[in-house]
Formats: sequence, structure tokens, C-alpha cells
Amino acid sequence: MSARLPALFLGHGSPLNALRANPWTRAWSALGAALPRPRAVLAVSAHWYVPATAVTAMATPRTIHDFGGFPRELYEVRYPAPGEATLAARVQQLLAPLAVLADHSWGLDHGTWSVLRHMFPQADVPVVQLSIDETRAAAFHHELGARLRPLRDEGVLILGSGDVVHNLHAYAWGGHPQEPYDWALRFEAAVRARLEAGEHAPLIDYGVLGKDALLSVPTPEHYLPLLYVLGASVAGEPVTFPVEGMDGGSVSMLAVRFG
Ligand code: ZN
Repeated sequence: MSARLPALFLGHGSPLNALRANPWTRAWSALGAALPRPRAVLAVSAHWYVPATAVTAMATPRTIHDFGGFPRELYEVRYPAPGEATLAARVQQLLAPLAVLADHSWGLDHGTWSVLRHMFPQADVPVVQLSIDETRAAAFHHELGARLRPLRDEGVLILGSGDVVHNLHAYAWGGHPQEPYDWALRFEAAVRARLEAGEHAPLIDYGVLGKDALLSVPTPEHYLPLLYVLGASVAGEPVTFPVEGMDGGSVSMLAVRFG
């Protein structure tokens, strides 16, 4: 029986972080080096947001370059981690009677590989991705996280990859320095406070956090991976924030670690 692994949410920010050495990516590397080595990673990425719950079941997931307008170097990145069909089957079993599609066409999208490339640079830890069903309400995603919690005692690292604040309309695309927007900082602080207090309800129903929530989470896909990780947390276990910061004024790099 392996020791319980943390449940981890990472703010992935720009796809370019895959190539960069900066305080955020160095913190991801440090996390990967310090964690007990997982048997496998179950990744819930903002970038697999489709009208179904599916799990990658192939032996060799491809590296997906699901973005446009970035330097060629980024399209050349490969993250050749193997899949793990037994983990995919275990996910299906834990989520039954929900029908979870065994997927053979997706792979690893940049929400997953841009951070894992730093955490596990050898790509030698098997990775399975779980999609986010875009037709379901936030509470559904929190509930799936709770049902996946046993994986933490089976050597599996549950990894949510998104951004607590993700507003690309306000983002400083030109690369000029942009102080974080007040609404972004307030929303991030509100989320942190509720995580620390163990208050799941206002994090699931995040609209109650007001106008700051509307600006910080204009679409849900980057926020929802946090709810999987929150659902997979154990009441009373420590919550820490191993990576902090705001990129381009409106993208939160906050990482959340339970356990
Ligand atoms: Zn993203």
C-alpha cells in the first residue's frame, strides 16, 4: 500500500511556459522532484473540454499542440510519456455508473505536457487524461473528483491543470508589463481564503463571489480542474500554495496542493 499522494492543481498559464525557465516553471520542477514518485498521473486539463466524460486509454498518447501563433520550437515539443490502460479502466470503475468513454484519439494536450515537462522531464511516469464534460454543472465535476479520491492511495497523482483566474481579453498579449488587475487579485484571494477554510460550497457555486468571478472566470474550463482536485481532497488535510503569481495581469499562476 503506497502512501497517500497529494492532490495538485497547477495554474499552467501561457503554453510558452513549456519552454521557459522562470520562477513558476522552476517551482513545478521542484514539486516534481520532491513528491513521492507516483505510479501514474491522472490529469484533468482545461484543454480537453468536450461534451462527454472520457479517459485516454491508449498505450502511447500523442503530444497535442492545441494552440496557434506560437514559435515553431513549441510545436516541436514531444512529451512521450506512456499511457496506462489499467488506470483508465480503474477510472471507469470508480465513476460507474457514469459512462466514461475509453478514448483512443486524444492524447496529452498542452495543459498537461506544458507542466509535466517540468515536473517529470524524463516523461517516464505514465499519464492518463480525463476530459471535462462541458455540458455538466460545476457540482458534477466536484463530485467526480470526490469519487476519484481513492486513487491517491493507489500511487496516482491527481493533477488539475487550468488557471484560477483566466481572462484572455484583459491579458497583456504584447508582453508589456501589466500589473495584476484588482478584480483578479480579489477573486484569487477569495478562492484562497475559502480553500483554507475548507468551504467547498462557494467554490463550486463560484458565481456567489460576485462580479470578480465573472471577470476572472468568463468561461469555466480553466477553473473546473480545481474542482476535481478540491473534490479529491480529504477533510482537514493541509492546503498549501506552492506556486503564486499573476501573468499578464489576468492569468493566475496559483498552484493548490492538498496533502
Ligand atoms: Zn490553458
